[in-house]
Amino acid sequence: MDECLFCRIQKEDSPKVYEDELIVAFNDIAPKAPVHILIIPREHIVSAARITPEHGALLAHLWTKIPVIAKDAGLTDFRVVTNAGSGAGQSVDHLHFHLIGGGPLNIVL
Ligand code: 5GP
Ligand code: ZN
Repeated sequence: MDECLFCRIQKEDSPKVYEDELIVAFNDIAPKAPVHILIIPREHIVSAARITPEHGALLAHLWTKIPVIAKDAGLTDFRVVTNAGSGAGQSVDHLHFHLIGGGPLNIVL
């Protein structure tokens, strides 16, 4: 079976914004904001719809790194988004969080 795109990217020798033993962050190939970083767990979790209590420590770790990654990217104001399922716009089936900022975020949620 072909390996998923983000499983492959995390192992590649491509530039990373941040990485440690549990998570990886890298720039989105098609940025929708001046700063557009994808943050993923190394573990292949399909989407936010598949998060279980066993992922609690991993996701707590990921979220504690978000302000660090945002600050390092020069962001004081930012948004974090995850799409779960194609109907919500998910195109890569490996859980990822979009960290966007650095300009106007015109969609008000
Ligand atoms: P989704 O649509 O699943 O919420 O987000 C997937 C994101 O992955 C999109 O913003 C898309 O631009 C980005 N993306 C797709 N292929 C690649 C790639 O090969 N490298 C990087 N860095 N980003 C990718
Ligand atoms: Zn994967």
